[in-house]
Amino acid sequence: MSTSRTVICLLRNDLRLHDNEVFHWAQRNAEHIVPLYCFDPGHYLGTANYNLPRTGPFRLRFLLDSIQDLRTSLIQRGSTLVVRRGRPQEVVGDLIKQLGSVSAVAFHEEVVPEDQQVERGVRDICSQMKVKVHTCWGSTLYHRDDLPFNHLSRLPDVYTQFRKAVETQGRVRPVLPTLDQLKPLPPGSGLDEGLIPSPEDLEQTDTVRDPRSAFPCSGGETQALARLQHYFWDTDAVATYKETRNGLIGLDYSTKCSPWLAIGCISPRYIYQQIKKYESERTANQSTYWVVFELLWRDYFKFVGAKYGDRLFDIKGLQDKSIPWKKDMNLFNAWKEGRTGVPFVDANMRELALTGFMSNRGRQNVASFLTKDLGLDWRMGAEWFHYLLVDHDVSSNYGNWLYSAGIGNDPRENRKFNMIKQGLDYDNNGDYVRHWIPELKGIRGGEVHAPWTLSSASLSHARVSLNDTYPSPIVMAPEWSRHTNKKP
Ligand code: FAD
Repeated sequence: MSTSRTVICLLRNDLRLHDNEVFHWAQRNAEHIVPLYCFDPGHYLGTANYNLPRTGPFRLRFLLDSIQDLRTSLIQRGSTLVVRRGRPQEVVGDLIKQLGSVSAVAFHEEVVPEDQQVERGVRDICSQMKVKVHTCWGSTLYHRDDLPFNHLSRLPDVYTQFRKAVETQGRVRPVLPTLDQLKPLPPGSGLDEGLIPSPEDLEQTDTVRDPRSAFPCSGGETQALARLQHYFWDTDAVATYKETRNGLIGLDYSTKCSPWLAIGCISPRYIYQQIKKYESERTANQSTYWVVFELLWRDYFKFVGAKYGDRLFDIKGLQDKSIPWKKDMNLFNAWKEGRTGVPFVDANMRELALTGFMSNRGRQNVASFLTKDLGLDWRMGAEWFHYLLVDHDVSSNYGNWLYSAGIGNDPRENRKFNMIKQGLDYDNNGDYVRHWIPELKGIRGGEVHAPWTLSSASLSHARVSLNDTYPSPIVMAPEWSRHTNKKP
């Protein structure tokens, strides 16, 4: 068996061929390459505090599609994707033994403590077996080493300061090209490529696609690149992003890149490169800039995660603030099942439960409602999102939840959304609410945002019976009355 200069490329949240430094490094330093993905049992346990499944059905389906797509692309390039179930550090150790003489293991570094623990495990096993480890950085738009702060501990705690610093002093590295061919697996090694598990193998059910979904695409690099082609070049939707990004219904109100970004099917640098190309060939405006502005939020939360580590999950947040959060399971269940009696919240929560996706506008509102109106432990919300979101990304999710709960990176004190105002501002005619709450279909226009303010005659005409066909609000905020006809 020929295993000289074999490099194992351990893939995690970098499931792509374009702009993948790990493959480039291996291609330069190996005769044989073993691309490896491990289904880590740690990803399928319960969440830390409320024991919800860590990987829900939508994200799992998306991941399985992405793995299949990467395997197909690798096969087309003379390689394949070896798939195993097990902790990466153990799988890597077993593979090194099986192959006889592996020269190096290469992987992209991650920021969250759990992933870093895996990295330490891989380093330990490699050092015991005298195998070199090579790591890369590839999940952010700005490379960690190019940040204009001497050390991550100097990362500003306010986004605007971060953004201005990187915009004026940083640079985005060029995209690495997709390799036409990848060095093959070691010949004669008898390496079994391994079956891609089914959702049932991972104790999860498969998903049924809801035709109302705002995210109907499937996983994988191929789909990610096709989405970008659609959003930028085929429809020019990117040129109106700033005006549409707060939308709630349909496929094209925002880029919908987040699920692919989360597991690395698309590189943020590639999106940036395409924006620059679009700006030079078609148009450069506030919208094209704003996509980069939002990608910088993603970068920011990754670096916040790197700076604060486990504090991202601390009930007191980054500000070490003690707040007497409630842990009322009845309130939590009403929130997660979309039966709080506040239609704008319920519509968003039902969309999440049925599709694994929710708009950014929706996320901000339901998070504010859970933390500020219900006063529930913010981690209940974060863990529910962790379970269900198709685009779940630890840093973005927990970072945004802390921000919404007022104990993260928001310099403003006591910011709270008004559910009725938000509903009327962003769903003026109530179409979004009726899209997801069929039992309110009979109420026309924006009145659907506050059914409790309607007369009994109007309710009965709309075939709505409060507390029977649809709940009364489980909580009332005084500021809502400013936006409803009647005082609550
Ligand atoms: P677009 O509007 O097209 O934005 C382009 C890209 O910018 C996104 O794909 C995303 O990568 C990034 N981005 C935009 N807004 C944010 C933001 N506020 N924070 C970080 N990155 C951002 N995003 C995730 O990717 N994963 C999460 O787990 C996640 N959890 C969230 C939880 C809460 C409580 C809130 C308020 C927001 C969360 N977000 C999360 C951020 C944001 O809602 C999504 O990134 C966005 O809705 C995804 O849709 P899009 O790709 O069409 O975004």
